[in-house]
Amino acid sequence: MTEALETKNEVEADGQVKSELEGHFYRNRLRLYFAGEMEARYRRYCARRDRRYVRNLLNILIALYVLYGACDWFLLQHEVGPVWLIRYGFALPGLILLWLLTRFNLAHRHLEKVVVVGLLWLALTTLVMARSVPVPVMNLYLTSVLAIVMAGLTITRLRFWHTVFTGVVYLLATACVVLPVEQNSRYLIYYLLLSVGVVLFCCVAQYSADRSGRREFLQKIIIHRKNLQLRKVNLYLRDLAEIDALTGIANRRYFDAVLDEEWRRARRRKYSVALLMCDIDFFKSYNDLLGHVQGDVCIRQVAQAIRQQVRRPGDLAARYGGEEFAVILPALDALEAQQLAQSLCDAVRNLQIPHPGSKVQPVVTISVGVSALVPDDSNDLKQLINAADEALYRAKHEGRDRVCVH
Ligand code: GH3
Ligand code: MG
Ligand code: MG
Repeated sequence: MTEALETKNEVEADGQVKSELEGHFYRNRLRLYFAGEMEARYRRYCARRDRRYVRNLLNILIALYVLYGACDWFLLQHEVGPVWLIRYGFALPGLILLWLLTRFNLAHRHLEKVVVVGLLWLALTTLVMARSVPVPVMNLYLTSVLAIVMAGLTITRLRFWHTVFTGVVYLLATACVVLPVEQNSRYLIYYLLLSVGVVLFCCVAQYSADRSGRREFLQKIIIHRKNLQLRKVNLYLRDLAEIDALTGIANRRYFDAVLDEEWRRARRRKYSVALLMCDIDFFKSYNDLLGHVQGDVCIRQVAQAIRQQVRRPGDLAARYGGEEFAVILPALDALEAQQLAQSLCDAVRNLQIPHPGSKVQPVVTISVGVSALVPDDSNDLKQLINAADEALYRAKHEGRDRVCVH
């Protein structure tokens, strides 16, 4: 019962966590931060989720970046020197360094920073390239920076504020490069305005992506919590179905299922199954003299004593009903089972629970009937149970506090 209450309380407590999770985030429609530890968890989650993705993006980027050196040659012919110096001497080593960081998980926790640095590095070095070439070609390089920034800010799953930061740095750097150009044509002013538009557009897109990423993260946590709750409830229900509430050992239903299973297994493998039937002696008068509450305490103590003796994996002690217990002993013959039964009798007697109504001992005792059979076509499970019952009856008849073998 207490277990049921605990499970119920946990479910309710989890309900509070859930509404708190949702409340923090959903109540404020503009919010892009979780409270406290949740934010750190979310960042770790993003880093784990995006590791492979960022690695693949970097692979493709580096391959394209190397190949685009051919375009430099095509545009600039023998004036390509300074551009190649920037491309292969500065930009590419930087990208390779970032690739190594992600490849060997050195920057695992700071994956987004790697992306921001990579993107800015690419944009800035291309801007420097743009400044080192004649004006018509410069326009082409500036266009490619815009493409880099636009693609980079939308496909990299950057969080909103990282996007804003990257966009602003890009705009400042572009202004620094473009404004001092002597032939400050209308084209360049247009280019600056276009860049502002692109950055704004990317910020809006990443804001929405950030929100949905966070929503997805919350849903995952909630589903995970629900699964844990379900698992706990399932364990609890299984206990309810298999465990006897008074004694804490297996109940009759579980006993029947296990005995059936063991019988079939023994039949397949041709070994014997032994069964012990135990009954507390003069228990009716124990109840009459000391009351049912004390009777229950006694049943619990006897059950624990029996369980402590039944230790082999595969053996099972169960409450058969009332003050009767049954023990399944797979792969034990009658003689071995008799020895164990005797140890059960001794263990219960050694509990030294005073029994004023017993006619055999001043303490609580049990009688045990033993049967063992190798299952085959000539017998069945009922025979095994009846034989143990008959042996128990004989043990009672012959004076109680003893073991009889069928
Ligand atoms: P015997 O030595 O022949 O077994 O005598 P007995 O008095 O034990 O006879 P029997 O086994 O028929 O008695 C069963 C008694 O066990 C009857 C009932 O009062 C008591 N009993 C059965 N279940 C419970 C229980 O859950 N709690 C308590 N306190 N008593 C129970
Ligand atoms: Mg009985
Ligand atoms: Mg009895």
